[in-house]
Amino acid sequence: MYEMADSGFMRPLSATRVPISFMAEKGGPEARGGTSAGLLGDIPPDALRAQMHRLVDWIADYRESIDQRPIVSTVQPGDVTARMSALLPPAGAPLEQIIADLDTVVMPGIVHWGHPAFLGYFGSSSNGPALLGEMVAAALNVSAMTWRTSPSATEMETVVLTWIQNLVGLSTEFTGIVYDTASVGLMHALAAAREAAVPGVRQTGLAARPDSPILRIYASDQAHSSIEKAAIVLGIGESNVVRVRSDRNFRMDVTALRVVVADDVANGYIPLAVIATVGTTSTTSVDPVAEIADVCAECNAWLHVDAAYGGALAVLPEGRWAMHGVERADSVIINPHKWLFVPLDFSALFIRRADLLRNVFAVTPEYLKGDAGAGAIDYMDYGIQLGRRFRALKAWFAMRAFGADGLAARIREHCRLAVLFADWIAATKNFEIVAPVNMAVICFRYAPADADTDWLDRLNTKVVEAVNSSGAAYLTHTTVGGVVAMRIGIGNIMTTETHIEEVWQRILDETLRLQAIE
Ligand code: PLP
Repeated sequence: MYEMADSGFMRPLSATRVPISFMAEKGGPEARGGTSAGLLGDIPPDALRAQMHRLVDWIADYRESIDQRPIVSTVQPGDVTARMSALLPPAGAPLEQIIADLDTVVMPGIVHWGHPAFLGYFGSSSNGPALLGEMVAAALNVSAMTWRTSPSATEMETVVLTWIQNLVGLSTEFTGIVYDTASVGLMHALAAAREAAVPGVRQTGLAARPDSPILRIYASDQAHSSIEKAAIVLGIGESNVVRVRSDRNFRMDVTALRVVVADDVANGYIPLAVIATVGTTSTTSVDPVAEIADVCAECNAWLHVDAAYGGALAVLPEGRWAMHGVERADSVIINPHKWLFVPLDFSALFIRRADLLRNVFAVTPEYLKGDAGAGAIDYMDYGIQLGRRFRALKAWFAMRAFGADGLAARIREHCRLAVLFADWIAATKNFEIVAPVNMAVICFRYAPADADTDWLDRLNTKVVEAVNSSGAAYLTHTTVGGVVAMRIGIGNIMTTETHIEEVWQRILDETLRLQAIE
């Protein structure tokens, strides 16, 4: 089994290094109650330093050798659990043992998203500088709930958000807030929209109102499933998310939107919000935001733009087209953890009326009253979350290390690789590209003329499975226009032309092999 290859991955401890366990330290187990880890206090500083050096080497080795690892894990459900104690043993374990267990317990069940041939979803946003920032954030372990509880975390969040805004050409009329994910950011944006449409919901709730209106949210049939989740959480209801058909390029059909909105208004429903997507999950299609903004203006609905993935394209002057019309939005989400080189998790919500968000979420607990309102932003007032990680630090590291030009160059390179890959597909008999290549995602399929549709769907699915189980590459499948397609997303800064060439060759080989036996 390949995971056996993981053993010995860590560098052997040199005999001259500081002992990794603090068992033998002064004031060690005997002095602290006889357990291997001691009952009180933290590990001694020199033991921490030694372990940190060791783990830094482990991490650097991991990054360096990641492309030699099988991407997928071969463990079965329960295998990882079986390697861990069902109950936490009373005695602490030596750190040496815990670190050794990384290789035997953890690594076998890891899918190596950072592998340069991992082309699933939108690829991976991991990189060295951000990793350094994340390490420091872990060491600081501050909470950016109020300005006073961590001025640097708060102010850096604001600065980094302004950088992002500037990079993509978004007006500074929008105020930014960092959440963990776009799903959570959207829920917050829609809470603000709900408060604007039905004032007082914060106080009375929806259910308690005798005149409780039925609110509707509109999004294309290509938009992300997080919309339904937000509707569920906000008491709007999943069935009040109306999916509008998209056109042959997978963009929202605005005529169809107008029809469903008019029908709803005639039936007494309130159009709460329309979600336009810039870079849909499956094909990266871009909805006609400006036309959707017209509809929103006509029916007084909130316009939210989900640019979680596609917003990053606007870092390029030649990619600004994707954000056309976004200046008319009420809120916009861009996920730097998708394509702006900030590792999970970091999602930026930009909202025109941050006061609405504050009106919904500002609740100051007694014990924070002395900390809040020091004249600077208290981010706890803009969301459900009180404790907030210092997410901005990893973004600050990565963005400063790469610079605006470096960010743009990397995004441009991903687009170049996507076009190149698409050219290879277009030049290959019996393969077809099934959606326009707008960004760094390509949807394609093997589809010889006259072949049975179900057989083709099965075959394309099997090719994806075979490529993935090889461990040498990773792609996903999707359904586009009713047919199964293969999909690759290029977002890793370590992915090169050679990697995508090898992936393409593997796809061709597997297709040839499987179509002969299927
Ligand atoms: N919007 C789009 C277009 C997406 O593709 C995704 C996830 O892939 C999301 C929203 C949800 O993102 P998150 O995982 O940050 O919640």
